[in-house]
Amino acid sequence: MTLDTTTLRVAFGFVALTLLVLFYFVSFRTSRSAYCGWWCAALALFLAGSAAYLLDGTSQQVWANPLGSTLLVTGACSVWAGTRVLRGLRFSRTLFAGAPAVTALAAVLDDPADNAWAGGGPFLALMALMVGLASRELWLVRPTSTELLRRELTFSPSVRALALMSGGFSVFYTLRTVVFLWVGPDGELFDRYFGSQVATLVTTVLLAAVSFGMTSLSYERETEELRTRATRDGLTGLLNRAEFMRQAGAEWRSRHHGGAHGSLILADLDHFKAVNDTYGHPAGDNALQTFASVCRGIVRSSDLVGRYGGEEFIIFLPDLPVERAELIVGRISARLRETATPNGMPFPTVSYGIAPASAASDLDDAIERADRALYEAKASGRDRVILSDGEGPVTG
Ligand code: GH3
Ligand code: MG
Ligand code: MG
Repeated sequence: MTLDTTTLRVAFGFVALTLLVLFYFVSFRTSRSAYCGWWCAALALFLAGSAAYLLDGTSQQVWANPLGSTLLVTGACSVWAGTRVLRGLRFSRTLFAGAPAVTALAAVLDDPADNAWAGGGPFLALMALMVGLASRELWLVRPTSTELLRRELTFSPSVRALALMSGGFSVFYTLRTVVFLWVGPDGELFDRYFGSQVATLVTTVLLAAVSFGMTSLSYERETEELRTRATRDGLTGLLNRAEFMRQAGAEWRSRHHGGAHGSLILADLDHFKAVNDTYGHPAGDNALQTFASVCRGIVRSSDLVGRYGGEEFIIFLPDLPVERAELIVGRISARLRETATPNGMPFPTVSYGIAPASAASDLDDAIERADRALYEAKASGRDRVILSDGEGPVTG
């Protein structure tokens, strides 16, 4: 049994409409992301283009076929625009408008009243080109997800699947173009493997698969955003207190069997209330962000830095003894003194308490020792580092 092209196009129309409605309400309305918006536009354009082709073979094909081709190429341009937006890049308006314009012109100038495949060559080639460019953009997407980076994945599985699908589709259209130019639309080879029926089937499957891929991508990104909000401090981007405790606790347990000696540092900005009172809250916020970025710039990427409270920070250097930690802290303070602040405000000095982190104590003990040392630093005049003496559980 063979299905005629019209039946396939009607079926395609129903599938595209269902996907458009589902995708719009499930993915776009919840994520509101621009790339999902572009995919909605692409679905609508593919739907409209294929509806126009239903008039193929009637007296209306003179305008319907060129319109159908133009709408499909515009849909492919929307797919490409969406992938550029996904990468946070702008896209060329000239290319976006130019590809459909060339398609329309080629079709109109190619006797569309009598020639059902008017402008077929440029149409097929531009479909291959735009979807191919979209596939290239998708290959170039680098993961921003800390979860993927932690798993040492250099790509997101959803994006990679989308890249493969669009790449396959572009190869199919490239072959269609070549065979079309070689044997023409009535050639046996074109009709059997690259004609409207096969293309409609392939496109139906692709639309469903890409909509699924896009939904899973937007879910992946939303999860990532929630994970960031749950684990990071919104002002400084450092680990929040709960996440610091979770990660430092895990690190502590894994390192301390081997008897490694590390350090735990508590840092508190001096007279910070006066900074807010004198220069305003935004200047205070700026100082907190500066401190955070200076810390991150000086410690290694494997060290943990968290915001412990308002203007208090916590640093865990898993295998650096306290003497080395003291040098690190010295470098942080030196860098802060060199850092320019808005409206000439001197950067507040910082007091530090450092406690050893070793098998003899646990994380809570080390924090308590560092806190006592910090208190001592404050009491003895601020702007200094005090090393906690002793290890093991804190007593008295
Ligand atoms: P000390 O030298 O004893 O640490 O004095 P201090 O003024 O730094 O300490 P205190 O605990 O009295 O005040 C801390 C101030 O930090 C008060 C609070 O308004 C400010 N603060 C806490 N969180 C933030 C924040 O997110 N942004 C800004 N701008 N200020 C904050
Ligand atoms: Mg303070
Ligand atoms: Mg404080």
